[in-house]
Amino acid sequence: APVIEARKLGMVYPDGTRAIEGVSFSVEEGESCAIIGPSGCGKTTLLFIFSGLLRPTEGIALIEGKEVVAPPKNAALILQNYGLFPWKTVIENAALGLEIRGVKARDARKAVKPILRELGLEGFENHYPKQLSGGMQQRVAFARALAIKPRIMLMDEPFSSLDALSREKLQNFLLELWMKERMTMLLVTHSIEEAVFLGKRIVVLSHRPGRVVKVIENPMAGSVE
Ligand code: ADP
Ligand code: ADP
Repeated sequence: APVIEARKLGMVYPDGTRAIEGVSFSVEEGESCAIIGPSGCGKTTLLFIFSGLLRPTEGIALIEGKEVVAPPKNAALILQNYGLFPWKTVIENAALGLEIRGVKARDARKAVKPILRELGLEGFENHYPKQLSGGMQQRVAFARALAIKPRIMLMDEPFSSLDALSREKLQNFLLELWMKERMTMLLVTHSIEEAVFLGKRIVVLSHRPGRVVKVIENPMAGSVE
């Protein structure tokens, strides 16, 4: 059974704007799926629906066979603008995902330390987000996401705010992670390059309202090295 499934999803915002219409696709376990389309075609809307932050007005969003009505426990969310709390330090931000899930603050910090190290953030634990480059901030967001050992990663334009070098480094990190852990990934992006690099399956959406115009199987994904 698919891990992520959209069944004829539609979204009409309260002001009458139709963002998406009849969107159906599915992502199997361990598969990475990129959703690509022009600005305004409803990519963020779709990701928010799967994150449990927005209820669709039509259709059903399923994760692990269950309708999404709240943030799914096994899924981590990565947003374009990092989503870090400016008044919390790097390690406090990274530990937050575990704390929300009931882990004690001290234990959570202990658990995220090696992950921060792996992401090249050792020595920055007590810095505040604004003291770091964009690439480093997004790595903190990845540390927070990975700390919960997610089976599913939901990502909204995670590389768009980064400079070219940071982007390439973090994309490679994500690709290696995916090949190693075989998480199920859903990535929305407006970048064809990124979709081809990371998406085993690429779902192409039309202009607003977003409709699925094409689903491409992409054997190229992950075929670096
Ligand atoms: P994308 O992420 O592909 O750029 P979005 O999901 O952000 O697209 O938006 C899809 C469409 O829905 C856009 O036309 C946007 O202006 C509109 N939209 C997004 N949020 C709202 C909202 N809260 N109320 C009304 N329209 C919205
Ligand atoms: P990234 O490409 O991931 O954004 P950078 O190339 O900006 O990383 O930075 C590489 C290294 O330089 C970082 O790992 C860090 O050690 C250091 N560095 C960069 N920006 C800052 C900053 N604003 N404050 C402190 N150290 C920084």
